[in-house]
Amino acid sequence: MSQSLVTAVRIDVPDEILVGGRWRTGAGPVLEPVDPATGEVLARIHGASTADVEEAVAAGERAAADPAWRDLLPHQRARYLHRIAELIDANAEQLAGLQTANTGKTLTETRALVASAAGTFRFFAAALETHESALTPSRGEYLTMRVHDPIGVVGAITPWNSPIASDAQKVAPALAAGNAVLLKPARWTPLVALAVGRLATEAGLPAGLLSVLPGSGSEVGDAIVRHPGVGKVSFTGGTETGRTIGRYAAEKIMPVTLELGGKSPTIVFPDADVDHAVAGVLFGIFSSSGQSCIAGSRVFVHESIYDTFVPRLVEATQRLRVGPGTEPGTQVGPLVTVSHRDQVARMVDTARAEGGRVLCGGEVPDDPELARGSYYLPTVIDGLPNSARTSQEEIFGPVAVVLPFTDEDDLVVAANDTVYGLACGIWTADYRRAWRVGRAIQAGTVWVNTYKQLSVSTPFSGTKESGIGIEKGRQGILSYSRQKSIYFGLNERPLPWAGIG
Ligand code: NAP
Repeated sequence: MSQSLVTAVRIDVPDEILVGGRWRTGAGPVLEPVDPATGEVLARIHGASTADVEEAVAAGERAAADPAWRDLLPHQRARYLHRIAELIDANAEQLAGLQTANTGKTLTETRALVASAAGTFRFFAAALETHESALTPSRGEYLTMRVHDPIGVVGAITPWNSPIASDAQKVAPALAAGNAVLLKPARWTPLVALAVGRLATEAGLPAGLLSVLPGSGSEVGDAIVRHPGVGKVSFTGGTETGRTIGRYAAEKIMPVTLELGGKSPTIVFPDADVDHAVAGVLFGIFSSSGQSCIAGSRVFVHESIYDTFVPRLVEATQRLRVGPGTEPGTQVGPLVTVSHRDQVARMVDTARAEGGRVLCGGEVPDDPELARGSYYLPTVIDGLPNSARTSQEEIFGPVAVVLPFTDEDDLVVAANDTVYGLACGIWTADYRRAWRVGRAIQAGTVWVNTYKQLSVSTPFSGTKESGIGIEKGRQGILSYSRQKSIYFGLNERPLPWAGIG
């Protein structure tokens, strides 16, 4: 990284964004990312304007069509991804520190996310080198094959909860497929995307192939989505925003990947290993302070163990260490902003109004040392039906709703009774039951006796209102490619229809 971005807690970020290959001051409004542990403004950066988006699209179109990029063989293009991965690794501590400062996540989490981002660039470099076109079975006097072309300019719009991982998840396969990328990070958390942009520049990625355009979604994000020169948008964020983007995509007849919200069930059967289940439920809902699309936020517990399991869960929740992400041992950091924390608090008030019992948490911590940060105590609520707002709406904070169940068939109906379909956890010693229930649950990912384990080699997707399209996995490159079929005529004589020859 050319500039030292983190010096202890002081952040030294130049007021520059990456527009079409040039680092310069953005023409949009100033963004003031805040450290959620202290409330301090970390940096002042002019974001992008719609004119900056225009410039980035034009530069991206030129860069993607330039033979110096377009004609690279796969193993040559892969080298750029390897170099970016190496630079991410070499700057891992700074990147993790920066992400912890800007999101409040613990250093343990951000170190893992940085390592995973480097792994994502390496994985897609390897996927690119081994990506095969196919000869399809011929049904006539011709040879048929399918190949994949780049789309051109791709928009990548990411949320604030895990910036470096969601940025890499889009930028790496999009570049691997031969595109130029406009990356728009969330306005609260632009710092890591800008740092990754610096590393891509340092890696020698040709100018214009990556633009980093922080700014508001309603202006910069909207301009990217609606621009005629943008041929695909890959979006991660809330379902309502995804719906808006989907409408514009329909007007443009443009492919989209939408990774959206969730309200995922975690199911504890009576034969579950209780230690594993408690640890998994806690990790599933309270890591990242619950600010995770795949958070296991609806915990279904079999009635026969409800009265023993729930008190254990509550006791273990109360023992979680809440504090700054920089402090070793912290398990639950602050929420991303005060306004988001207050929104979570309002949802817990809604639960109370709906008749829910708050078994622990349900308030901000009274520790004076945490008073400046946007903290909220890990919260467990029961006594609500599955139809309650708190059981149905994504809270995106450290709030678990616990629901008893009796019958397996009824459980599957209740677990699927949500607009979302992102993830599910099943805790049981009976693998036949795990298979049965896992297949019946409507979700993109099912974990059995584990939770929130993610691997770039395994596809990730949502169903129902949790999204469309697939990220990760070897085939992830295809999401950023146009499929093309080619027929080579092998007939010795002219085609018969015209009656020639
Ligand atoms: P969000 O409000 O939908 O924002 C996500 C991104 O979209 C931000 O960069 C945002 O910009 C931008 N945006 C907002 N309106 C836009 C528009 N009209 N056109 C184009 N871009 C627009 O979501 P969030 O609150 O940041 O993130 C939390 C949500 O993300 C949760 O629902 C969570 O479940 C979901 N999520 C899903 C996954 C998954 O893989 N399924 C992963 C992580 C998070 P601003 O900065 O201005 O808001």
